[in-house]
Amino acid sequence: MKEKPVLDFIPPDHVNIMGYVDESEVNGPGRRAVVWVQGCNRGCPGCFNPQSWPFEPNQIVSIYELAAQILSNPRNEGVTFSGGEPFWQAEALAKLARILKEKGLSVMSFTGFTLEQLQSPQAPPHSQDLLSQLDILIDGPYIQSLAINSPDSLVSSSNQRVHVFNPEFKDKLNWASDQVEIHILKDGTRIVTGFLGSLNLI
Ligand code: SF4
Repeated sequence: MKEKPVLDFIPPDHVNIMGYVDESEVNGPGRRAVVWVQGCNRGCPGCFNPQSWPFEPNQIVSIYELAAQILSNPRNEGVTFSGGEPFWQAEALAKLARILKEKGLSVMSFTGFTLEQLQSPQAPPHSQDLLSQLDILIDGPYIQSLAINSPDSLVSSSNQRVHVFNPEFKDKLNWASDQVEIHILKDGTRIVTGFLGSLNLI
């Protein structure tokens, strides 16, 4: 289990994120908002998002503002947490998830931990709370030697697993495709996501 990072620069009910997009169709079932959190101490060789590693302030946003932003776009059917490591910010993300679920959105998360680690006493604080809000969890670190270079795969390396906690999604595991999405944000920043499996802030 990785050492617990120091996150006391993040106020309560806030999350430190590195990116956000609306209406992604390549990060889970349907059209989804995607929140990439800032901070991961796993250091997987070949990680697609090394810029997400530092536990340093990036965009620190209130979960209430983030919920309002996600809900302001009626085309978002759910939210996906990616990273970085979402479970180091589990308490705030669980609260955000609860707000969104009450409004009918689904919630999915990626994690570098295994489900068993998240269920153990050594799990990051509030992991169980976030787990209890999830419809789908994709677990396990990216392992370069086990990489699956296929647009049809839901996972990036063969050790990773798709846990479907909500049976409604059992037959909706079809988001992996050979598509790449390029989102151009208001400030001109481009976010590229999709089969490349990566988030590139260019
Ligand atoms: S867990 Fe994910 S974000 Fe963290 S280093 Fe590994 S691949 Fe990168």
